[in-house]
Amino acid sequence: MSELNCPCGRGIYTHCCEPLHRGQRDAESAEQLMRSRYSAFAKHEIDYIVSTTASGQQSHLDIAAIRDWAMSNQWLKLEVIQHLPRLDKTHAQVEFKAHYQHVDQVHVHHETSNFVFINRQWYFLDPTTDQTVTMKQPCICGSGKKFKQCCARFL
Ligand code: ZN
Repeated sequence: MSELNCPCGRGIYTHCCEPLHRGQRDAESAEQLMRSRYSAFAKHEIDYIVSTTASGQQSHLDIAAIRDWAMSNQWLKLEVIQHLPRLDKTHAQVEFKAHYQHVDQVHVHHETSNFVFINRQWYFLDPTTDQTVTMKQPCICGSGKKFKQCCARFL
């Protein structure tokens, strides 16, 4: 693959995911955010992976592990299987397959991810962060709604 091609497969990196990585443009959809997060793994843009995770989850991310994971693989190809842009007013879902090579083996990571739209930006809801939020506490996305009325259903 040429260095010029965007890892997400949608064109030239400088016109595709790079402006998002540089903070020059916001993702227009959950799918675009998902693509840019995949590209961020491929380009080792770890800060971007952190900053596009729901705000209340960012401090619970294992950044060293994310960096390690990004750098220890070759990111071969992204396939978006399905994008459901409106699960409700502020949530969307993207099903994808990330093809990558780890040491000398090719793997396919098949995942269905949920995203929240808040303050005019999309964020990834990470189902793996280790944090305790009660249903009555404010949501981890920063919406100001109670957790149970907001992102709890999508985690
Ligand atoms: Zn929420």
